[in-house]
Amino acid sequence: MFLGGCELYSDVPMNLEHSQKLFYEAQHYLPGGVDSPVRAFKAVSGTPPFIVKGKGSKIYDEDGNEFIDYVCSWGPLILGHSYPPIVSALKQAVERGTSYGAPTELETTLAKMISTAVPSIEMIRFVNSGTEAVMTALRLARGFTHRDKIVKFAGCYHGHADGLLTKGGSGLATLGIPDSPGVPLSYAQNTLTAPYNDMKSVENIFERYPKEIAGVIVEPVAANMGVVPPQPDFLPSLRRLTNEFGALLIFDEVITGFRVSYGGAQALYGITPDITCLGKIIGGGLPIGAYGGRQEIMEMMAPVGPVYQAGTLSGNPLVMTAGIETLNLLSKPGVYSQLEAKSSSLEESISAIVAEAGIDLYVTRIASLLTMFFTSSPVVDFKSAKQSDTTLFGRFFHHLLAEGIYWPPSQFEAAFISLAHSHDDLQATTMVIKKALRSLQG
Ligand SMILES: *Cc1c(COP(=O)(O)O)cnc(C)c1O
Repeated sequence: MFLGGCELYSDVPMNLEHSQKLFYEAQHYLPGGVDSPVRAFKAVSGTPPFIVKGKGSKIYDEDGNEFIDYVCSWGPLILGHSYPPIVSALKQAVERGTSYGAPTELETTLAKMISTAVPSIEMIRFVNSGTEAVMTALRLARGFTHRDKIVKFAGCYHGHADGLLTKGGSGLATLGIPDSPGVPLSYAQNTLTAPYNDMKSVENIFERYPKEIAGVIVEPVAANMGVVPPQPDFLPSLRRLTNEFGALLIFDEVITGFRVSYGGAQALYGITPDITCLGKIIGGGLPIGAYGGRQEIMEMMAPVGPVYQAGTLSGNPLVMTAGIETLNLLSKPGVYSQLEAKSSSLEESISAIVAEAGIDLYVTRIASLLTMFFTSSPVVDFKSAKQSDTTLFGRFFHHLLAEGIYWPPSQFEAAFISLAHSHDDLQATTMVIKKALRSLQG
């Protein structure tokens, strides 16, 4: 158990008494007291606030603390917490029942909206998490190509499916676990890992296994080792190489879909993948995942084709309702430019502070995804991301938390800006960051 320690990391006193009691109790019943590792604050020490409410840009904890939230449930809440049209649509939907295990029109409605936004997705299948989406997308790629090997990139996270837990980012990077016990070597052997942004390595892998690679899976903007943008030739080269060798290009847009633009990263960079994985935003804050692509590929799936996948709660009416309401709002003109304005203003303020403070920081941002790496050298892949001073980051994090800013509790995560973040929120955040960096220096 890792109770306490918070006061060691923050110069500013903060009351987390009730949360700490709950965390202590939770650890008796839930491993580490949580249902997803990053929530336990292991990467930054201290103990997490237990949340009772979210509204707009803010979350509120058991001790009455209020935070401006830059986690936003790790991406889904691009509209902020309890966005009124979603809440009222959900209230109406729940009156009609929570699940039928039979088809509804809602599924076609959301599928059509996604297909219109992301034309490479001619057909889609809804599942319950990003992990499930990626796991099935790989099965589909293997079924379609009759090949077994998959290429992935170090520091990209694609959920926790067996065979993808090789050199993952996020929690794994932070915890320093190179691989997970429980994953058979035989699975991992079919996963080939290259450094992000390193085409030479990918070319080498293809030269070595020209007829064995089913697909290349990539986060088109890496956001699970902190934000690492693709270099200009990276995605076009992946598209060219996969075409040349008859492998499928799989974009994991679980974070970037409807985040970096309405059409996702594929619209932003003008690259058409064969299969796209989605999740997070398309469920409006409820559990979801999805994978989609060309009809000829998607019709490999049961019940049309031989590749099997099913789900008791897949396409759940409440989730579909929240997704439809979210995309409805996001499809309105000007929404993404508004989000870009908020995000760029935060980035500019941070960059100005960094320049002034003379502290070793490398700030990355794509759209409303932002990371402050505590390193002076450019971050282009997992290796360079890991140059960051995570101890310093931990102190920075606790300073922010104590001043009411809920920043992601790990150096290797993106901060998420939502449409609910106001000018005042961003300005308050800037002031706190300035203070925190000053105190780290002194
Ligand atoms: C979050 C995430 C996943 C996994 O989604 P879950 O819903 O947590 O299973 C997969 N890929 C990427 C890029 C993600 O950010």
